[in-house]
Amino acid sequence: MKINDKSFVPYIEEKAIQEAVQDIAQAINQDFAERKPVLVTVLNGAFMFASDLMKCLDIEVEISFVKVKSYEGTQSSGKVKQLFGLDTPLEGKDVILLEDIVDTGYTVQHLIKILEEKKPASINIASLLFKPDALQVPVSLKYKGIEIPNKFVVGYGLDYDGYGRQYKDIYRLKE
Ligand code: 5GP
Repeated sequence: MKINDKSFVPYIEEKAIQEAVQDIAQAINQDFAERKPVLVTVLNGAFMFASDLMKCLDIEVEISFVKVKSYEGTQSSGKVKQLFGLDTPLEGKDVILLEDIVDTGYTVQHLIKILEEKKPASINIASLLFKPDALQVPVSLKYKGIEIPNKFVVGYGLDYDGYGRQYKDIYRLKE
């Protein structure tokens, strides 16, 4: 599969992705029974994960979105820009931050700081993918889908320069 100048090979199939999503949903259903958490979803990448996850939740739940960008091409720029977001009042609420992937950890670290200013009752992070070898700052992931090596991936919401988000499977950069 080709996107712009780069080739990608199949990496994680839809079935494995959906199983990971269901496992996270089941854990959230149990942990937040009787509570009404807010899913704060990090755009653009996490939109598909948020949509599939929400359909598996049987608790009452709100959703809100925040848009940030730290990647340029296939490299993390290390700087996180908050582009827009968070119109939902979070004071006293249980926040679950939904990420597509945690790589260096700068994005979630930055977002946790912004979220803490809104005085929620709790903040937990759910990430579909996690690259433990790329982590630069300590990040505590309560809900972790699939651990992957430090390779660039696309599909299931994740892009390469804006393209490739629509695939049901995940692909990795061909070396
Ligand atoms: P971090 O701030 O943890 O380095 O990176 C988090 C963000 O970088 C993710 O939300 C995602 O947008 C982007 N990112 C990190 N790794 C990858 C990757 O392998 N592929 C794509 N498409 N985006 C990634």
